[in-house]
Order: sequence, then C-alpha cells, then structure tokens
Amino acid sequence: MPRRHTGVVDAPGVPGSAMNRRSFLRSAAATLGATAALTIPGIREASADPKRRLRTAYRLSSHGLRVCSACKDLDANRFFISGDAANKGRAHLGCNCRIVTQQIAAGTWACYFRGGRTSVYDRRWLRPRCPPA
Ligand SMILES: [Zn+2]
Repeated sequence: MPRRHTGVVDAPGVPGSAMNRRSFLRSAAATLGATAALTIPGIREASADPKRRLRTAYRLSSHGLRVCSACKDLDANRFFISGDAANKGRAHLGCNCRIVTQQIAAGTWACYFRGGRTSVYDRRWLRPRCPPA
C-alpha cells in the first residue's frame, strides 16, 4: 500500500481532509503500538523503583466458572511461583480453573515463596506470618 498517492500533500491547518485523517490514524496506530510495548509485564517488573517493587505470583481462578468447593477454597488461598506450579497444584484431576497472574509486593512474594525456595504458599497454613498480598 503506497504511503502517498496523487499529488496531495499533508496540509496542516486544513481540517478534515482525507490526508490529514489518514495520517492521524497512522500516527494513532503507531502510538498504540508503542503503548502496548511499554505495558508488557516483564518490562514493568524489571523497573528498579524500590518503593513499589512488584513480583508476579500465579493463582488459579474460578471466576465466572461453575466449580466445586475444593476449587473455590484452593483458588482463594493458594499462590504459586510459576504457571507450571499452579497447573500441578490443582485441587483435583479435571479441574479447569484458569491460571492467572497477580502482582504482589516483592517482600510478600519473598515471604510466600521463601525467597524462591518453595513454589506454593497457602494462606490457610498460617505458617510464617506474611504480609497480605
Ligand atoms: Zn478447579
């Protein structure tokens, strides 16, 4: 698709001309693309703002699904270190709960997963007293 056709030139100050609208849409699309690139979770996670450092925890979610009470209880309380750990930590065979991510404070993450040495934390265990997610 040619970027410019015929002899029409971008005319700033001519409102509503086809060329202006087209170039506006092109720049809007470019801006949206740039915004999407900046909101990739991994990039935000790597930012070094010490006050609001967040890490990703993985959880199972039954939101909007019809599930058994075992799934509901587990989904409400368990945090996993990875999507794979979440998939292996399901309540029962045949569980179809979705795996979702949740950004939690880095200090909470370290407490839940003991700095990365364990892969699952359950709020019902009352083990170490971790700050709420
Ligand atoms: Zn389930």
